[in-house]
Amino acid sequence: MFSTYSQSAVLISVRFLVLDFATGKIQNDVLLIYQGGNLQKAPIMKKRVNLTFPKRAISIPITYRLAKDFNIAANIIRAQVAPNKVGKMVLELSGDIDQLEEAMDWMRSQDIEVSLHGREIVINDTACVDCGLCTGVCPTEALTLDPKTFQLNFLRSRCVVCEQCITACPVNAISINL
Ligand code: SF4
Ligand code: SF4
Repeated sequence: MFSTYSQSAVLISVRFLVLDFATGKIQNDVLLIYQGGNLQKAPIMKKRVNLTFPKRAISIPITYRLAKDFNIAANIIRAQVAPNKVGKMVLELSGDIDQLEEAMDWMRSQDIEVSLHGREIVINDTACVDCGLCTGVCPTEALTLDPKTFQLNFLRSRCVVCEQCITACPVNAISINL
């Protein structure tokens, strides 16, 4: 996880693609942040979300505010917004994981309904033996072990559905809904 800067302190960000030579595939973009004389690197996370706007929120310039206030790139996949009616939109959001969360909280504070689009990770609590192996591969700390109870915690809002935890689980307690 990358969380060593605050939103207001970000001065410069540059995005580029990284080629994984092992697989030949393009991996996540990389975000470079210049802050206090240091250039730091953070992985770009992507989330696809469904938005439902009440009438009063339709006029909010959503993609502009996401970019300006949260450094989030918003790609409009689908939109159905008419004046004085409820609007619906599917957006693909890209940015730092913490700022993605802040952006979604902000949208909810504007009475916009936000739900994750499409695939989601499902944990079978009955099968899980709380071994913690999945927490070691989770890049966003969506999976953690409670330090007191040693039980698995899953914070869905942090999950970017990278699926790395699925193969890490020795008892097949993690799956994806399609
Ligand atoms: S899919 Fe699993 S490993 Fe990937 S972010 Fe979600 S919980 Fe973490
Ligand atoms: S790897 Fe599987 S069994 Fe272990 S904590 Fe994660 S979900 Fe539970």
